[in-house]
Amino acid sequence: MARQHLNVLIADDDSGDRKLISRHIKLTQLRVDITEAVDVNQAINLLKDNQFDIAFIDYQMPGNLNLEGIERIHAQFPYTAIVLMTGQGDENVASTAIQLGALDYMTKRSISATNLMQTIERATRLISLQQQIDEQKESLSQFSRVLVHDLKGPIRHIKAFSEMINEASAQQHFDKIAEFSQIIIKSATRLDELIDALSAYNKTDVSDVRFDTVSMQKIVTEVVFLMHPEIEEKNANIVFSDLPEVKGNAPQLFQLMQNLIGNGLKYCDAEHPHISISVLKEKNQYRFCVEDNGIGFEDKFNERIFEPFQRLHSPNDKRFSGSGLGLSTCKKIVSRHGGDIRCQSELGKGSMFFFTLPFPIIDAL
Ligand code: ADP
Repeated sequence: MARQHLNVLIADDDSGDRKLISRHIKLTQLRVDITEAVDVNQAINLLKDNQFDIAFIDYQMPGNLNLEGIERIHAQFPYTAIVLMTGQGDENVASTAIQLGALDYMTKRSISATNLMQTIERATRLISLQQQIDEQKESLSQFSRVLVHDLKGPIRHIKAFSEMINEASAQQHFDKIAEFSQIIIKSATRLDELIDALSAYNKTDVSDVRFDTVSMQKIVTEVVFLMHPEIEEKNANIVFSDLPEVKGNAPQLFQLMQNLIGNGLKYCDAEHPHISISVLKEKNQYRFCVEDNGIGFEDKFNERIFEPFQRLHSPNDKRFSGSGLGLSTCKKIVSRHGGDIRCQSELGKGSMFFFTLPFPIIDAL
């Protein structure tokens, strides 16, 4: 486990016991800040005001800490790992407490630096996994809500215009049929694009992704080669040179660059779109920048555009079609690589997208 700084709460009415736990925690190699509480109310107030990673709570404390109390504390502070401190013979109580939300228990007799260290590591690992699961559940449910909304639009169109074709053919208005068919084809194409974008977005979730040393110069060269027809058509100029090797997954980095360069081309109405890709070497990573001279956007959208299905243009704006999943895919790819992505833009003046990637495996050693 990475040795991070831990915020620990010890809640026990017995000052001797508090000292004992505190002394042994300090004997572990963990970096900790320890706060003490002498009763349940003080513990709850401290939990309200501070984000504790772990709380050692004495079962026998004054202030009516019964098992419902543990359940209440857990419901109120779900990301603080609760370890119940019990006396000898309280094991049954402890196992019920675990069912109600405590993550672990320790008998006071078993307190030692080694035991505490193991308990802290296990409990904080479990709680951080729980937090990740909850976050993923939340983003999945948000994602599916928007997904249903976005898929339903074109499906509704297809249904409505198919019915209109039926009516038109019954009334022998054959001139209308071609027009309605075109709308159906457009909606079906939009569905197809949405499904492709979704598939790219979901691919980044695969857990056994291989990380190798990847040349960003090669990746960008390939992307530009594949996008040649669009680049020619828009009279665009893409500038990059000597891009370094990074540690990464080549297909994902290809997707990342394709999305960013693709957006640079798409969201540009200049006579000569210009996109430049540059890089800065920082202490522990590379910071890349993809800059364009496109339409830009207002500062206030800097974060929103990285969320799934967030677009700054209406679906009816013929100039800019898209799924709203391009940048959220970029964000997932970059965070899978341990980096971050952000942007800076000004309406009418172009945009800059910055993202970080790790040094290649050889350099990192
Ligand atoms: P889309 O499929 O709509 O292109 P993205 O997730 O790639 O979805 O982008 C989200 C929104 O951010 C776009 O709809 C667009 O409004 C804005 N955007 C993205 N890249 C650029 C850019 N280079 N210049 C201006 N606006 C951009």
